Amino acid sequence: MSGHEFLDSLIVFGPVPSRRLGRSLGVNNIPPKICSYSCVYCQLGRTHHFSSSRKTYYQPEDIFERIKARTDVIIKKGEKIDYITFVPDGEPTLDAKLGLEIDMAKTLGFKTAVITNSSLIGLDCVKNDLMKADLVCFKVDAVQEDIWKKIDRPSKNISLKTVLEGIKSFSKTYKGRLITDTMLCGGLNDDARHIIELASYLGSIGACSNYISTITRPPAENTAKKPSEEKLNGAFQAINMAGGRAELNIGFEGVDFSSSGKAEEGFLSIISVHPMREDAVMAFIKNTGADPGLIEDLKLRGEIVETIYAGEKFFIRKINGPRA
Ligand code: SF4
Repeated sequence: MSGHEFLDSLIVFGPVPSRRLGRSLGVNNIPPKICSYSCVYCQLGRTHHFSSSRKTYYQPEDIFERIKARTDVIIKKGEKIDYITFVPDGEPTLDAKLGLEIDMAKTLGFKTAVITNSSLIGLDCVKNDLMKADLVCFKVDAVQEDIWKKIDRPSKNISLKTVLEGIKSFSKTYKGRLITDTMLCGGLNDDARHIIELASYLGSIGACSNYISTITRPPAENTAKKPSEEKLNGAFQAINMAGGRAELNIGFEGVDFSSSGKAEEGFLSIISVHPMREDAVMAFIKNTGADPGLIEDLKLRGEIVETIYAGEKFFIRKINGPRA
């Protein structure tokens, strides 16, 4: 790889398959790792370059040129791109030229997405830039100040109240696809009282999906732990009950049940995303003609666990299981 190609691959990467975005061509619009947070679970390690003010890092024309060169190659190969996604190794809205870069990327005829930690959404210029994207994913790990500080470790001049109000006000006028992502960490933000408050906030946003994620790669701090399946299911149910649309994102890619035709894979694929109540599991087994011993077998193999929520039995994919 030449020096030029190496720089190109730093700015534009992929496309990579993503459950949330399909085939996503990633854009690294800021140098690594400049961020307004230093999340305990960050897979990029601790933040050494804290920033909460926007500036220009690259010339938008340079970014555009690299996106265009990459999309030309992908199109020539007959491959598909679902989104051009601004998802750098840091916080994309710190880039003062983000809006212009989105405008330029859109001229190529692809949808655009931004995955943000939400910290700067209180700024009108950030709101205006994000309005241009076809999809915005907001991180919402906590709605209580002390928990937010422990998990996301924000830069001093960011206020949680401004962040939460900013997302809410954005959601009222945004016409694109708005989603949220919550990283659930054991012992940090998975306390039942916090989950109820978080669920109530997420339910008020009206997002297309509220993803609940867990750690899937080595975190910045070894204090960051996966939650239990019980907490994961509790968060899922609480968000749905509050009017949100919860979906699990726990590191298992879905299996196309209709094409695989295998009940076991189909079942595992569904409960990786949506914990299933016992009566729904029974209906699934009946409708697919699966072996009635399937559930016991999966439990014994450590692929699934049973958990109780509000007196009902649910089955969920085991996150610390053999394939986790
Ligand atoms: S916001 Fe993202 S990049 Fe920044 S520290 Fe958190 S996980 Fe890492």
